[in-house]
Amino acid sequence: MTNEGQAIAVYLELKMNKDIKTMLELQSFWSDVLKSSAAAERCKEDILLRRNELREREAEYSELTQTAAKRRKTIKEKEFLLNELDQKIKKLEDRKNLLKTQRETDAVQSELDALKKEDGDLESELISLIDILAQEDERLRAMLQEIESQRAVTGKAIEELEAGIKLNEETAARNRESYDSLLGVLDGAYRPRFDKLLKAKNGKAVGEVTNEICGVCNFKIPSYLASDAVHESNVVICTNCGSYIYRLE
Ligand SMILES: [Zn+2]
Repeated sequence: MTNEGQAIAVYLELKMNKDIKTMLELQSFWSDVLKSSAAAERCKEDILLRRNELREREAEYSELTQTAAKRRKTIKEKEFLLNELDQKIKKLEDRKNLLKTQRETDAVQSELDALKKEDGDLESELISLIDILAQEDERLRAMLQEIESQRAVTGKAIEELEAGIKLNEETAARNRESYDSLLGVLDGAYRPRFDKLLKAKNGKAVGEVTNEICGVCNFKIPSYLASDAVHESNVVICTNCGSYIYRLE
């Protein structure tokens, strides 16, 4: 039994208006409906959160896969260019060896120098691209491992959360049923107002008055109301918040 349930069991022993007693019991059922529904909602939100987290990691992985694939393609293209350049250099060198005049040799040599510079630059660029790709591949392997373990953890957590949703929804439904059937017991003079108030006011429609303070809104109520609220035959309404109020002594 909940704390509130225990408190109500005590109230039921007390001499108090029977409709106020029913209201307290109804309020307790409704409070359990709210608690279980909120717990089920939290489980649902948690599931969404976990799914989103996993999806984000998967998107990150897929993005990096594409980046790495593009880089691999660039490397292939540049390797092809480098190969072409090497062949060009080789041809020029062969030609240079056949040349007769110094002038011709100088001209080819200057062309060769330019090509070799280009070749060197391309080679260093390739080396750094290959380095970057190796790091990306390493990162991808690590990410894949992390994602796989996250998938397993998420799957298990979602299973538990779904069980939690089921349990809480069942509890909420059971309390709602108890509420609905007990509501019929409440005097028709209070029933629609109490039901509306309880559902509109966050599950509080009846409260104890202590020292002329309403237990629902915490405002002071007129003294005459506070003394009326103690009588078994009276059902009193707080002048501030409109809740039903009672006083035990
Ligand atoms: Zn009040």
